[in-house]
Amino acid sequence: MSSENFNPFEMAQTQFDQVAELLQLNEGTRAILREPLREYHFSIPVKMDDGSVKVFKGFRVQHNDARGPNKGGIRFHPQETVDTVRALAMWMTWKCSVVDIPLGGGKGGVICDPHNLSLKEQEQIARGWVRQMAKNVGPINDVPAPDVMTNAQHMLWMLDEYEVINGGKYPGFITGKPVGMGGSLGRTEATGYGVIYTLREALKEMNVDPKETSASVQGFGNVAQYAIRLYNKLGGKVLAVSCWDQNDQISYTYKKESGIDIDELLKITDRFGGIDKEKAANLGYERLEGDEWIKLDVDVLIPAAIENQIREDTVGLISDKVKIIAEGANGPTTPEADKILKERGIFVIPDFLANAGGVTCSYFEQVQSNMNYFWTRDEVLDKLDEKMTAAYHAVSRLAQKKDLFMRDAAYVIAIQRVAQACKDRGWV
Ligand code: NAD
Repeated sequence: MSSENFNPFEMAQTQFDQVAELLQLNEGTRAILREPLREYHFSIPVKMDDGSVKVFKGFRVQHNDARGPNKGGIRFHPQETVDTVRALAMWMTWKCSVVDIPLGGGKGGVICDPHNLSLKEQEQIARGWVRQMAKNVGPINDVPAPDVMTNAQHMLWMLDEYEVINGGKYPGFITGKPVGMGGSLGRTEATGYGVIYTLREALKEMNVDPKETSASVQGFGNVAQYAIRLYNKLGGKVLAVSCWDQNDQISYTYKKESGIDIDELLKITDRFGGIDKEKAANLGYERLEGDEWIKLDVDVLIPAAIENQIREDTVGLISDKVKIIAEGANGPTTPEADKILKERGIFVIPDFLANAGGVTCSYFEQVQSNMNYFWTRDEVLDKLDEKMTAAYHAVSRLAQKKDLFMRDAAYVIAIQRVAQACKDRGWV
């Protein structure tokens, strides 16, 4: 999933090298952490509906499991590349580490386009992936999950295949399963809620009452919707949301000075997080084209759509009123824009901390599955709040103590923990 001139793995390695330098890591530790420990490349033959046989390329990258079994999604995408999978696996290692869950970083993928595949063909790809990887994944060494264009159904096919191969029930093999089939309550809201748990703590540190704040949100999908819901519960007012319009092939910002009403907007939103523009107009929303969400005079910006949105050419559009950027999306801010945010003193809750609620809840799903005993929604969300709050404060404390930007502090904590685990195991 990368464009020709952008190599995400090189970017992940550059980010790592900078922190390795800051931490003065020794050569052996740098060498082991800047590459995946293991990777698997394989072919998945599929009998297509038209009678032909097509062979799909699959991957699994296990970046580092010094702190526990690898954890990470499997994406189905036509532009998937092994370098994207490597980068995502490395970022998963840091994400699990920063929230201090005992898991490592993994990621998988298959080069295919589910838009052009029947469910039967997709099922063969899902089962074929497990057949190739069965010996090297599982509750004690590598736990997959859904990602781009894979969902709970793919996870169930994969679980079923794994259980057939291993002759037993292993619900802890995979997460993202439907509730009632080994899934966890609270997983749907986990990422968005996690973003707001960290935002709540940041506002507390600034002595700002959430009730006196306003926010603008990019995106209106899973992360954004639940983030808005909890932010509203804390008393915050969301002035605008933006989303992609599939018909017009452009993004729109929907704005209401009195604050958007999440329930009325959800009634006119499709499953991809797209808002019906005519119906929004009837409800009194002002519709603005393009990057308008970023320009609003609000206290908080929540980019929760896609990567590469706060860039050198857009960072200047951010109002001087903005105090905090809570990154719900993965990679919304470029390193060039980061420098400017630092100079302007805008407080950033970095993506791999702010959006770690998803993987934390997946970890809870794995724990519940392994016990075959499931918690109530409140229990799950209380545990999530506790984990996210502790992780936020650990990063914030270090940032204050060493006068670091929050992103750098989060990287320092995450990388240090993994480096220490490698050392304690006697690897380096
Ligand atoms: P989603 O597909 O449910 O929603 C994406 C939203 O972004 C939609 O409303 C879409 O219209 C909007 N969008 C897309 N392109 C846009 C653009 N150019 N301008 C404005 N809006 C645009 O996705 P999601 O699950 O909410 O994920 C959002 C981000 O959060 C992604 O970066 C994802 O990697 C990250 N993330 C998600 C989870 C999770 O558990 N869902 C966990 C960690 C990180």
